[in-house]
Amino acid sequence: MTSYIGRFAPSPSGPLHFGSLVAALGSYFQAKSNQGTWLVRIEDLDPPREMPGAADLILRTLEAYQLEWDGEVVYQSQRHHLYQQQIDAWIASGQAYFCQCTRKEIKQHGGYYLGTCRDKKLTGENLMATRLRMTEPVYEFVDQKHGLLSIPKALADEDFIIKRRDGLFAYNLAVVLDDIDQGVTEIVRGADLIEPTGRQISLYKMLGKQTISYLHLPLAMGENGQKLSKQNHAPAIDNLNPKPALLEAMHFLGFKFEQDIASASIAEIIAWGVKNWQINQLPNTTEITPRFSNRPW
Ligand code: GLU
Repeated sequence: MTSYIGRFAPSPSGPLHFGSLVAALGSYFQAKSNQGTWLVRIEDLDPPREMPGAADLILRTLEAYQLEWDGEVVYQSQRHHLYQQQIDAWIASGQAYFCQCTRKEIKQHGGYYLGTCRDKKLTGENLMATRLRMTEPVYEFVDQKHGLLSIPKALADEDFIIKRRDGLFAYNLAVVLDDIDQGVTEIVRGADLIEPTGRQISLYKMLGKQTISYLHLPLAMGENGQKLSKQNHAPAIDNLNPKPALLEAMHFLGFKFEQDIASASIAEIIAWGVKNWQINQLPNTTEITPRFSNRPW
């Protein structure tokens, strides 16, 4: 084992689909080809968007594809105390504040929040969002595949929400606190998360932590031009016959197969993937529409 720690962090809003299999495989191959640890974290932060049983289904799918995780699975729903503790500390220090602006008001002011409530010293969090005073805006970062990527200034400068008015913790806050707590050294995930990466790096800086490395994988798009996602009802991948989706997802990640791959076992294919994985095999684009027909396997 090296000091590399990677992770796969699905939200249990539905079963794994092709796009999330790509993220699982990419993060797994990158961790294991670095002799690292691969963690699984279930991001069950938003109950109204979750599907009962999806978390278990996702874990069973990872097992079927023989993606073995290290250590215990972590559930964000069991870590609210950690997130609240940090928010309380920031409220106490004046770094975070309550905000009562509605989405409509923010839209009227151009779509970005301009700090209207920053110095109002509103009290009582009920029915108010909690925002973080942005003192460490990040306008660009280096991605291991795509090089220097830039973040729009207005987005980077925004005092973003760390806890919503309905009491739910914000994705960016939970992800960063967990990644720090779990010692994650590199994040490998879909290119749809390039934009929030700036905010996440801001959080590392505001927490006084060493920033980590990022690799964004091409995003699988549906024929309709939208990303494959659970919200768009992307079909679940097959747990009983994993080989076709596994090979398709590896092809998507830029692997060039040898002739006899179709007769190999799932374990052999995964082991072959770990051995042959290289970041520079990844396609250069951030969005790809996979065509699922006429494969040689
Ligand atoms: N939970 C997020 C998702 O399923 C991914 C979070 C991450 O990888 O940072 O889209």
